[in-house]
Order: sequence, then structure tokens, then C-alpha cells
Amino acid sequence: MLRIDGLSAWYGEAQALREVSMRVEPGEIVTLVGRNGAGKTTLQRCLMGLHAAYGGTEGTIELFGEDITRLPPHARARRGLGYVPDDRGIFATLSVEENLTLAPVLRSADGLEPWPLERVYETFPHLAERRRAPGSTLSGGEQQMLVLARVLRMGARLLLCDEPTEGLSPLFVRRIGEILREVRAAGTTVLLVEQNVHFAAAVADRHYLLAEGRIVESLSRDQVREREHQLLEYLGI
Ligand code: ATP
Repeated sequence: MLRIDGLSAWYGEAQALREVSMRVEPGEIVTLVGRNGAGKTTLQRCLMGLHAAYGGTEGTIELFGEDITRLPPHARARRGLGYVPDDRGIFATLSVEENLTLAPVLRSADGLEPWPLERVYETFPHLAERRRAPGSTLSGGEQQMLVLARVLRMGARLLLCDEPTEGLSPLFVRRIGEILREVRAAGTTVLLVEQNVHFAAAVADRHYLLAEGRIVESLSRDQVREREHQLLEYLGI
């Protein structure tokens, strides 16, 4: 589904990614794990076509066998890429429902199946309860639900998610895990940046360990479980 070959990225002279090559197969949940500054966010921005605003890139990115390396972000979204950035990006003065309906819902000519609002509220009952509340009044967990719902509503086939559990209470962390498994069961593939190794081990099928802009290891679910303590120590958590 996603094939990255020899991807490098720079911020001016500083190189942030070094010849990253990796694959994501349909229906997988894959995590990118690594210390702060390892290049996880840069990699997701490159996939979404957002790195051009910061610097140069080399290498190729294929989605469903199509080379999307030169496509702008909106064209990648039309092909089924959905991105939940780490800064969330909620419109503070708009209600939950306005935040949800503001984003364009892509047409199914592209093979996407946008979610109707009813399906969003079924999956995210917290948001249904708070549909009239302004974005500024939402807790961190509710904000994360809202951005996730907004991207899923657009019909993402490959969901890129940057640290969705960061700063959330255990209740919301658990719920995010359930939602990711639900959307996977409904046909969406997930590539997750995650520092919470325990969460990553519970939710993902495979993991890539990034260090200083390189992929240093590809780990199975069992390998991450066996090495959880060692990884936590390595990540400095
Ligand atoms: P974190 O968990 O802290 O977000 P990360 O693994 O996502 O870390 P990136 O944010 O991708 O790492 O950063 C990779 C490298 O690129 C780091 O050395 C970082 O300092 C640098 N970098 C990131 N954003 C910028 C920027 N806007 N300008 C210059 N350098 C940047």
C-alpha cells in the first residue's frame, strides 16, 4: 500500500532523514518509534507532501503503486492519505459539529467512503454529547477525538497519526486504541508515530525504530513486547 524508497529530507543544510526505506501493507497498524528529534514527524510530513515548506527531499513515495512523490498535499488526500498532526489544529471558536463539517468530504469517485456525521457520532459518543460546544472548551482527549474524527470523515484509507496519545488520560488512551482497531477492521491502514511503547505494543502489528533519521530496526509485535523495558530506557521515558 505504501512504499518508501531512499527518502532523505533536509532543513536547510541539516539532514533530518537519511535514505529511509519502508513498507506498509493494507490493513496493518504500523508504528514509528524513536527518541525526540529522530525524524518521525518529518517522515509523516514528507508522506503528506508538507515538507516542501521546510526544505528539500530525495527519494520516492508510492501509494497503491502510484508514485506520489511530486504530488501536493490535497492530491495525496484525494488518494486516501489522512494526516492527524501533533498540534491538533482545532478551530477554537467553532463548535464540535462545525469543526467536523468544515473539512471537505471527498467524493467516492476516488474509491473513498466519507463517513456520514451519524457514523462519526456512533464511533465518538463523546463528540455527540459535545456537538454544540466550542472547540476551546474541549479537553485534550476530546480534541484528539475531534481531529481523528475529522480526518476519518474524509474517508482516509491510510491514516497518518502523530502521537495521538500524548498527554491524554488512560481512559482516552484506551479509547484511541479501540478506535484505531475499529477503523482498521473497517479497512483503514494506520501509520502511527508513538512514544508510548506500551500503547504501541498493544495496538500495532509492526514497528520501525528510527534513530538520527535512519530506520535502524523493524520489529514485530512480539519483539516489542519482549524488549519493552529496553526500548523505554532507550527512548528515555
Ligand atoms: P519529536 O518527537 O520531538 O517531534 P521527531 O522524531 O518527530 O521528534 P522531527 O521533529 O522530525 O523528530 O525532527 C527531526 C530533526 O529535524 C531534528 O533534529 C529537529 O531538530 C529537526 N527539525 C524539525 N523541525 C525543524 C524545523 N522546522 N526547522 C529546522 N529543523 C527542524
